[in-house]
Amino acid sequence: MAAKNVVFVGNWKMYKTGDEAKSFVRELAEKIEGNTNKVYLAVPYTAIRPAADAAEGTPIVIGAQNMNDASEGAFTGEIAGRMLKEANAQFVILGHSERRHIFYETSDFVNRKLKKALQEGLEPIVCIGETLQERDEKRTEKVLEEQLTQSFAGISAAQMEGLMIAYEPVWAIGTGRTASPKEAEEAHEFCRSFIKKNWSDKVAKKSVILYGGSVKPDNVGALLEQPNINGVLVGGASLSVESFSKIINYQSGNV
Ligand code: PEP
Repeated sequence: MAAKNVVFVGNWKMYKTGDEAKSFVRELAEKIEGNTNKVYLAVPYTAIRPAADAAEGTPIVIGAQNMNDASEGAFTGEIAGRMLKEANAQFVILGHSERRHIFYETSDFVNRKLKKALQEGLEPIVCIGETLQERDEKRTEKVLEEQLTQSFAGISAAQMEGLMIAYEPVWAIGTGRTASPKEAEEAHEFCRSFIKKNWSDKVAKKSVILYGGSVKPDNVGALLEQPNINGVLVGGASLSVESFSKIINYQSGNV
């Protein structure tokens, strides 16, 4: 199969200090030399600046895993988009399932964050996905439709164009259980037709829909062969240079 341009996003969750991030970025840059795909790393807040410094002159893009929808205020423990920008973050993950399920974030809140991220000039990656119970009850499409409708409410076609969405079935995140390429493709196809219906064919074609959920070097190729999968969001396997570079290099050379 011919190579296609894809996006690789690593999500470090609450792992790695600034120093660890610096050496990781340097080593990764060496291992993926020649790669022409986009490589993003969502690191802990305190690692953004050191990682961004280390990433200068490399194709690696550094971002954050969350942000608040306010510019400032009495919100203990929260962080604003403009603070992420100042630290040199270029993108931000919004509505990750761990934020939705552990910290009870709603799609309305994700929608407000999305609008703020766009205002601040941070490239958003909005995550959606169903739980195992919802899948077993055959409610996957209904859940995705609700999450898409609410998370993207009021977003114009111009803002929507090229925007990144990560389909991450909750039952596949950190569990070692990946959606089969067919299951993932079906969900991606559903998301793309939702975008087509609500914005336009042009917007749908330009949308970057990532798959996330236990992506590893040995399953990334089959996932990326699916026509509607434009990239992967990788948690656990992005924590080691070895496995993350294998994932990235697999695409460059073999798909
Ligand atoms: C994630 O953090 O978004 C994720 C998909 O994690 P993992 O790859 O470990 O399942």
